[in-house]
Amino acid sequence: MLPLGHNLVYTYGMRAVDIIMKKRAGKELSGEEIRFLIGGYVAGSIPDYQVSAWAMAVFFQGMSAGETAALTEVMLRSGSVMDLPGVPGPLVDKHSTGGVGDKTSLILAPIVASLGIRDPMMSGRALGHTGGTLDKLDSIPGYRTALSAAEFREILLKDGFAMTGQTKDIVPADRLLYALRDVSGTVESIPLITASILSKKVAEGADALVLDVKYGSGAFMKNPDDAEKLARSMVDTGSAMGKKIIALLTDMDEPLGIMVGNFLEVEECYRCLSPEGAPEMSADLMEVTLELAARMAVLGGKAADTGAGRVLCENALAGGRPRELFLANIRSQGGDVEKFLLMLGNYRSPYCGEICAARDGYIARIDAWKTGHAGVGLGVGRNRTEDPVSPTAGIELRRKRGDVVKKGDVVMTVWGKDRESLDAALPRLADAVEYSSEKPAAHPLILKEIS
Ligand code: URA
Repeated sequence: MLPLGHNLVYTYGMRAVDIIMKKRAGKELSGEEIRFLIGGYVAGSIPDYQVSAWAMAVFFQGMSAGETAALTEVMLRSGSVMDLPGVPGPLVDKHSTGGVGDKTSLILAPIVASLGIRDPMMSGRALGHTGGTLDKLDSIPGYRTALSAAEFREILLKDGFAMTGQTKDIVPADRLLYALRDVSGTVESIPLITASILSKKVAEGADALVLDVKYGSGAFMKNPDDAEKLARSMVDTGSAMGKKIIALLTDMDEPLGIMVGNFLEVEECYRCLSPEGAPEMSADLMEVTLELAARMAVLGGKAADTGAGRVLCENALAGGRPRELFLANIRSQGGDVEKFLLMLGNYRSPYCGEICAARDGYIARIDAWKTGHAGVGLGVGRNRTEDPVSPTAGIELRRKRGDVVKKGDVVMTVWGKDRESLDAALPRLADAVEYSSEKPAAHPLILKEIS
């Protein structure tokens, strides 16, 4: 059997330590050097400790556009790419850099599918304080998120979108490198994030991509300037690889929508797909979702501009087809729709508590980072890749930024996987709520488009 990474080209006579020192000195690596290092890592001939030293050198010294493109290409070629023969394009996907309550994928995939665009969605699990689409979908009884390539293709043809996880053959270099970055303090590096995300997105077979690059306390990029640099890096690298690509910079200082949890978030998505309109408190979630979906409509050739794309998406929602496709996809992926519908509003952990307003005034902010971390403790996410998550744990925001409260009003309802997790999370969640006497200034949800 050939080792993983066998399809990378090796260059003999090179030494990993020279490549590490060259990057440490801030010099530009050649494509061959990057291929040697990543190929050797995947094949097992270059050890973890040398690759983590290299990742730290990249963290401090950065990479040129050429190096980032070479790294993305090398990672992409470390495994196989999704083969989707006979699936008529264009195939358009969306990817978010990760956030709290960020559930736009589950709403926009059926919307754009109803317009005749196909969305081959390959998603991840929760890690750190951010949620994962696969964990949310796994909370639907019977739903399967590990599809074979043939099933993925068949469901994509039938429903217009399919949701699966990354298999072990797709970008193995990223699986290894991401786990290493996670424990070596090198996640928040623009070239490393660019190569990680784009190698996976190109491998899944999308022709065009809309990126949701988040900034704020609940995002990897804490401020808009860094988010813009990341967005530019991804747009430039994706374009160089022949993809049509647009990025939006969006706010992740407060959780998106009202639910943070696994089944809770699926439930919010189902409610947002109602032809009668989304719940009023989910307005921020719908705004970001529709702006992303509108750009997918443009990249998919269904609309001349974003404004026209947005109208198409809104009309589709009002017609009810996206909600039908959402349920059709549950059925296609093995889920039990009748059970799912009966669980709405009551599939909750019995360990429940509330956060009440500490004073009269306005809600100035609900900190996304603190909420996300408390959510992990409740059982929404995981601390280690192999930890289980709870389908029924989570948080419902009963008030959001700018709402008026009286002391004692309920601000959050909270469910823990058990009594201990609930008791530990309640004070942390109380600390996530900030109050003001004046109405807080409105925050732009969508800051900028980079294309
Ligand atoms: N998401 C990814 O897939 N990779 C990163 O490096 C960061 C976020």
